Amino acid sequence: MMASVTVYEPSKSLPKRIARRLTPLRGRRIVRFNLDRPIISFSFDDCPKSVVENGLSKLDAHNWKSTIYISSGLLGTINHHGEQMSKTDVITAHTSGHEIGGHSYSHIDLSEIPFSEAMQDIETNRAAFEDMGLPPSRTFAYPFGQTLSRLKTQLASDYDGLRGISSGAMVGRADLNQINSTPLFSGEDFKTLIKQIETLPDNAWLTLFTHDIQNSPTQWGCTPEEIDAVISAVKARGAEVLTIADAIQKLKASS
Ligand SMILES: [Zn+2]
Repeated sequence: MMASVTVYEPSKSLPKRIARRLTPLRGRRIVRFNLDRPIISFSFDDCPKSVVENGLSKLDAHNWKSTIYISSGLLGTINHHGEQMSKTDVITAHTSGHEIGGHSYSHIDLSEIPFSEAMQDIETNRAAFEDMGLPPSRTFAYPFGQTLSRLKTQLASDYDGLRGISSGAMVGRADLNQINSTPLFSGEDFKTLIKQIETLPDNAWLTLFTHDIQNSPTQWGCTPEEIDAVISAVKARGAEVLTIADAIQKLKASS
């Protein structure tokens, strides 16, 4: 990790912390489902180039597909997660069946800027996808997991699902306007994650998210060996692996 890089983190002020508790209760789009086998969705955010070799190729080997949330403004840049994907990486991932989801253009905290600016930044990203020849995204992930009830309801008409970063498996029901996602990060919670996958109930949808996948990852990433351990746990549990968009379709069909 490059120690000199300043990394944005959402405000920890009291009003912001209260808002973060209330927003999940507002502007919801609840889907109820009934699965006889759990679904696991892998998602990769932003997205670092190390994901191509250490994430996508490992999933491809099992014929599993992921969702990659792209902020086009980050493509080809270098940040604390290392080198970011190029446009070619994104197009190749799409061609090989991975879902390319929206993540805003400039990867800004959408809850901290005026609503119109937030919508414009999302639109700029949508236009960049079109320039790359990509189809419209079916799902979207809030940068830093931060959102507002107004954004949730506005974006609901544009996307089948909106992913946040509240952790925990969704059992029998999910809010498609703020889909839970559990960190696939190195560190002390990693063992808990493996246990959670191994003991996932049948009627559950678990989405995972991470960033860089490399030796000595950032605190928001993991190692290639950890991805291997997760893949083994998913196989041992017999879960179905689907992109976020395909999982939503399956949930709706099961309800
Ligand atoms: Zn992100």
